[in-house]
Amino acid sequence: MTVEPFDAICHDVALAEMRVCEVPGPSTLGPGGKYFLREFYCTEPGCDCRRVVVQFLEAAAPSNVVASVSYGWEKAGFYKKWSRSAEGWREMAGVTLGPLAEKGPYAEGFLKIFDHIIKDRQVVAAFRRHYRMVREIIARP
Ligand SMILES: [Zn+2]
Repeated sequence: MTVEPFDAICHDVALAEMRVCEVPGPSTLGPGGKYFLREFYCTEPGCDCRRVVVQFLEAAAPSNVVASVSYGWEKAGFYKKWSRSAEGWREMAGVTLGPLAEKGPYAEGFLKIFDHIIKDRQVVAAFRRHYRMVREIIARP
């Protein structure tokens, strides 16, 4: 799967709708502070994997990626049909760490934070909308 940053594909929308989360702290979840959620979407032609990869960037130092999570918003059955390997769907449905490999000391904490963030249906609706925007751009000749 090839993922590219949403801000590189739809720059203005990405900046206007970039989410910020505030982590109280320091706590077991992390050092505390503000984090930007940078979204990445798959740009493989013909693919329909319906997932987002989110990097948590430290707002005070945005080059510092503290965690990367991936999230498939469809039900497990969708990924079971779609997955090439028997067990591959497990990594595609729901929230998992990676695949951009940033697994810092707080990665598990940010996984929990992300789980909480996606309880907000508007957040999930925005991911789906951004995903569709990217797919439409990729599908253009
Ligand atoms: Zn894909």
